[in-house]
Amino acid sequence: MSGSTVAAEPGRSVLALPASVNPPSKGRVLRIAGGVYQVDTGADILDCTLRGRLKQGDEQVVTGDHVLLEPLPDGSCRIDGLMPRTSKISRRAVAGSREQTIVANVDQLAAVLAFDRPTPDLRLLDRFLVLAELNGLGAFIVLNKLDLAESAQQGEFDAYTAAGYEVLPTSAKRGEGVDALRKRLVERATVFAGPSGVGKSSLLNLLLPDGELLKVREVSRKLGRGRHTTVGSTFFRLPEGGYVVDTPGLQHLALWQIRPDELAGAFPEFRPAIGSCRFSDCRHLEEPDCAVRGLLASGEASDSRYASFASLLQEAREAYG
Ligand code: GDP
Ligand code: ZN
Repeated sequence: MSGSTVAAEPGRSVLALPASVNPPSKGRVLRIAGGVYQVDTGADILDCTLRGRLKQGDEQVVTGDHVLLEPLPDGSCRIDGLMPRTSKISRRAVAGSREQTIVANVDQLAAVLAFDRPTPDLRLLDRFLVLAELNGLGAFIVLNKLDLAESAQQGEFDAYTAAGYEVLPTSAKRGEGVDALRKRLVERATVFAGPSGVGKSSLLNLLLPDGELLKVREVSRKLGRGRHTTVGSTFFRLPEGGYVVDTPGLQHLALWQIRPDELAGAFPEFRPAIGSCRFSDCRHLEEPDCAVRGLLASGEASDSRYASFASLLQEAREAYG
């Protein structure tokens, strides 16, 4: 789809405009594979190369970046500049290691789980929500496989609603809840995070034009073939505007880079209590008169969310030593 051509109507002579008359000057990186950057210019999706100096800089061009394009004589384009980012998900820096940005300019994170098959992994869900909070992204929860839901599960996610997270039940199998999900995605870039098997691909197939998911996955596979590239994240353009972002391996993203003392603030329902503990350096573990644990007694925070907090805190403390 590179370059632009003007087709002559039969019986009428049309002077084809050279591609340089109105070359794209900006775009957004949808995916990167084998040194090829696929860039959405709004009108087109172009395969671009990267200008040499951008390969060495502190900030690497990543999926989701808004970039400046320079047309090349052969009709293709080269990425010539990187525009400022509004957000990013990164492996967060620890002393002595460089921060590594994984994806840029995403607006929100959809944590996708299934009611059953697989059983909801609430530790993983909380991990994703913490990841979103620490990266300044809004988050909501998609509970797929509504057709497999037991009535006993209705209350299982009340703690999340109470904490301010919207919970959207869907069934990709029956098409239920998909319109509500579609509305939640319009004009935003949404990371779909979730373990495999919960139905992310099935939902994407319903959200994207027919065959698009397969086509994009095939293109990425071809572009990356034979090179030592791991599959990175991919932006899928939604017909209504906006993008769904597939970020493989997000569930394995270590959160050990969190500062232990900033973890409690990543649980919205804990926030009102932070600062009210007896000890100003309270870790919210065994300390007496801990206001955060007080939320458990009053039912304002759930035992399950607190269990996630305690386990992530352990992880963070081990990493920080
Ligand atoms: P992904 O690994 O998250 O991309 O999950 P897939 O979309 O590949 O789905 C995993 C399995 O769950 C497949 O066998 C799907 O057919 C099935 N599945 C997906 N959505 C639903 C649903 O809403 N209900 C039921 N019962 N099965 C579903
Ligand atoms: Zn405390």
